[in-house]
Amino acid sequence: MSDQSTKILPETVIDLANAISKREVSAVTVVRASLESIATLDGSLHSFHEVYNEHALNRARHIDQMLEDGKDVGPLAGVPIALKDNIVTDFGHTTCSSRILEHYQSPFTATAAQRLIDSGAVIIGKTNCDEFAMGSSTEHCAFGPTYNPWDTSRVPGGSSGGSAAAVAARLCPAALGSDTGGSVRQPASLCGIVGVKPTYGRISRYGLIAFGSSFDQIGPFARTVSDAALLTQIMCGHDVHDSTCAELPNPDFMSDIDAPVEGLRLGVSKEYKGAENSPAVAEAVERAITRFRELGAEIVDIELPLTNHGISTYYVITPAEASSNLARYDGIRYGHRAQLEAGEDLFDLYAKSRAEGFGPEVRRRIMLGTYVLSSGYYDAYYKRAMRARRLIKQEYDRAFEQCHAIVGPTSPTAAFPFGEKKDPLTMYLSDVYTANTNTAGICGISLPAGFDESSGNPLPIGLQIQCQAFDEATMFRVAKMYEAATDYHQQAPNLTAGQRAATSPERQP
Ligand code: GLN
Repeated sequence: MSDQSTKILPETVIDLANAISKREVSAVTVVRASLESIATLDGSLHSFHEVYNEHALNRARHIDQMLEDGKDVGPLAGVPIALKDNIVTDFGHTTCSSRILEHYQSPFTATAAQRLIDSGAVIIGKTNCDEFAMGSSTEHCAFGPTYNPWDTSRVPGGSSGGSAAAVAARLCPAALGSDTGGSVRQPASLCGIVGVKPTYGRISRYGLIAFGSSFDQIGPFARTVSDAALLTQIMCGHDVHDSTCAELPNPDFMSDIDAPVEGLRLGVSKEYKGAENSPAVAEAVERAITRFRELGAEIVDIELPLTNHGISTYYVITPAEASSNLARYDGIRYGHRAQLEAGEDLFDLYAKSRAEGFGPEVRRRIMLGTYVLSSGYYDAYYKRAMRARRLIKQEYDRAFEQCHAIVGPTSPTAAFPFGEKKDPLTMYLSDVYTANTNTAGICGISLPAGFDESSGNPLPIGLQIQCQAFDEATMFRVAKMYEAATDYHQQAPNLTAGQRAATSPERQP
């Protein structure tokens, strides 16, 4: 929001929607404030790929008109929301931050986005991400990286780094991301906001451009747990367009969200206290555990020894799924098409279009995936990883016999500098605590739990809470209790127009 409007406008989704519904402030004022702050501040962040100024203002006018006519606009009345650039809309472009989809326009809108729109939300733009959601830093983008609003010489996390940075910088109160192995929770952690990975099957994947189809879930970013719970709840529910979307009654996450955690058992695992954790992260998690104990929760020791096999399992199965999903980008039906030289044939067209259209990380995953699925290696890699996947799921099942929720770090460190993780394996290890949530299909949330001050700039730290499949209600309740007992979520980065650290990489054209 612009300086003027931050003082007068409420900042959360729930408060904004209330104020707009009661006509204390118009949807146009709120949407305009959001668009103005993007115009002023996003030059230094590059959290947005595309901003829908006209579309958003027209829609805000329409909402104001409906309210004036006494119509019910829904629980998100007039609230500006951004979408990660892999969630399609029938307006604007959806590029997945890839050259191959640079000019792609979808003929339809993703179910999750449509449900927000049907509840009154105003989609203001598409946010930057790692290409095809593959990455943990929002550096692997065809159109330049996103900068962390807390320190623009550092990454915002990834792959949904644009959505996380936009919400952290107060450019909009909420945004959607997608989480295949941590891509909502890890950037939420590095940007000091709330991010949710719902249970696999909770939210329709129709219109989410596929990466790892048995891992992907859409999830919200917000500044408070209640906002995130409301957005998740609105997006839930069966969808005939996605056969993996669970047929369950629409959940109510809001009515018990303030129930005390007394009597709840929270699991703590020594495998989450790895040597890779920075001292500040280790301290923040210990502080959170102490606070939960004071709040009346029982802390129990659990064992998750397969945590250390999570990355190798994830990086066999998801590239396999990605190599199959990305086969559709052939230069004919979708996206970028290469120019052929005389004598070149159809195969050359495929090969050249794909080589020109995909960036290095995406190509690496396609090659990895093709390799682990190839006949000589299938048993040794893919089949073994699928067995490990079942064991990881069983390990969580056993843990949840002892506790209601598992508490630990989201990411081993706070935001790291650009270029620090050039070796792909080092980058992959950023997801050591988040990937297994997706491998097992359960749910997880990251929420602000402190700051790492060791670099001189306060850098946010996230706490992760994981619950069993379809137990988001407990997950939100535990998270809300911690949020209510702390004020980390109220801290905002000190961002001024035009700011960019001297060491920040330049945006590529
Ligand atoms: N960082 C992980 C990867 O690179 C997770 C990505 C995601 O959740 N979309 O695959």
